[in-house]
Amino acid sequence: MRTGRPRLPSQHPFSPHDTVLRAAARHVDRRRFLTVAAAAAALAFTTNRPARGASAAPEIDAARIPDDPFTLGIASGDPLPDSVVLWTRLAPAPFEPDGGLGDQRVAVRWEVAVDEYFAIVVKQGTALAHAEYGHSVHVDVEGLLSGTVYYYRFRAGTWISPTGRTRTAPGQGLDASALRLAAVACQAYHDGYYTAYRHLAEDDVDLVLHLGDYLYEYPVNAAGGERRYTAGAQLPDVFNHETTTLADYRLRYSLYKSDPDLRAAHAAHPFVVTWDDHETENNYAGGVPESDVPPEQFLARRAAAYRAYWENQPLRSGQQPQGPDMRLYRRLQWGTLAQFDILDTRQYRSDQAYGDKPHAPGPESDDPARTLTGAEQERWLIDGWRASTALWNVMPQQVCFSQRKFDLTEPSRVSMDAWDGYRASRDRIVTGARSAGIANWLVLTGDVHVGYAFDIKDDFDDPASRTLGTEFTCTSIASGKDGTAKPPNWNTYMTANPHLKFYDGRRGYVRLELGRQAARADFKTVSAVTTPGAALTTAGSFVTEAGAPGLQPV
Ligand code: FE
Ligand code: CA
Repeated sequence: MRTGRPRLPSQHPFSPHDTVLRAAARHVDRRRFLTVAAAAAALAFTTNRPARGASAAPEIDAARIPDDPFTLGIASGDPLPDSVVLWTRLAPAPFEPDGGLGDQRVAVRWEVAVDEYFAIVVKQGTALAHAEYGHSVHVDVEGLLSGTVYYYRFRAGTWISPTGRTRTAPGQGLDASALRLAAVACQAYHDGYYTAYRHLAEDDVDLVLHLGDYLYEYPVNAAGGERRYTAGAQLPDVFNHETTTLADYRLRYSLYKSDPDLRAAHAAHPFVVTWDDHETENNYAGGVPESDVPPEQFLARRAAAYRAYWENQPLRSGQQPQGPDMRLYRRLQWGTLAQFDILDTRQYRSDQAYGDKPHAPGPESDDPARTLTGAEQERWLIDGWRASTALWNVMPQQVCFSQRKFDLTEPSRVSMDAWDGYRASRDRIVTGARSAGIANWLVLTGDVHVGYAFDIKDDFDDPASRTLGTEFTCTSIASGKDGTAKPPNWNTYMTANPHLKFYDGRRGYVRLELGRQAARADFKTVSAVTTPGAALTTAGSFVTEAGAPGLQPV
């Protein structure tokens, strides 16, 4: 949509919201805490960082951008009681490596209003979109009212973005009565349409948690895989190889964000994102790649992947990567109702045991020196639980936390990529949860492309042992193609794992409603993703009562 040139009150170009200034300030802070090794790594990777007033790149007159630069949509994320992050990335030619903007800087106006017509604009400003960051814009809007719905949009020259809807968290210490959220994961573009996102955009939730595999590194052919695009709608050749470079990862985000259902979900709700493996490479572990490449080559790839991730997500400058390092684990509060401890179980993990093949636990996987979180994140999590005053302690993360046996025979094989492959690490987390005395523990999980509901047991091998909390896996948006309600291993899994209360193999998301008395989970599924337009159904519903953990079917 092309509109008349906006007339807005003028504002000092170096507003405190300017993301570049904040990033520069943070860079100085962080450097004090870098170890020698980390500093060497950071220096080797810190290139093209735009500094205040130092960029040699010309600033384009945004009025002269010939095509809509808002093709990748908009997003908001990480709501706090007084602030929310707004995101966009300019790309008038989204399938070109430079997005069609060359190395030019673009001034982008942003507006936040209390109404969708922008009659009452409460915050506004200008941010610069730099080529060095893929022409992305991250605005940390501060000074907002708590527990409030806001509308936002961007302008570049005469172009105006779609309107997004977002909200702030309730005030600190406020006894918020309810929170509705959706957990999503695993959106392999080439496996099907994002129909579940179309439904989620219409769903009445406050927040969307993305638990990883936002994109996949694998080649995408001209037909877009299972989407089966025909002549005229086919994809260019730039996607038909595995992503390894910054240009590759940026283009892949452009492909994914070209999907209108994904853009609609972002415009409708604030997202809280964390990654899993495929944003970088399948089943990598810390600095250890799946592929057979030298470690320094993999770290360069990881740096490219992490940078593109930051550029394409509504994240604060605290999450901005330094070379191959990015602090993605973080904590959010929803009044006294919920604390979210959002984990990163990829960046700091030990290499998978037993060659990352399904295997029974043994000395190699049970080695207490191994970790899924890294020592620092583990300490941070348990300290955060000790300090928590929240009714619900929600742990959004990536891989199955609960024990999941693959076989009816003993010893059963389990996944070496999930917490089952890191049992000492899991034991430390369970002990930490128990000693911190968190009563209402909810683990939210992606990765497995199916919906599960688990009781988290004190001893997974003893069904009579205490239930400590509950875990929901949110299936996938598209990965795994259509799927079926009862996959072939359904009976085996349900029998081998008595704490597994629900298993469904179709695509969709989990809708979660947290209240003061209970939490309710609904498994939302679509019958197909290889054809567009499937209806949404509820495959199963459970409640777990506050103070009495354990799944009860509804
Ligand atoms: Fe996945
Ligand atoms: Ca995964």
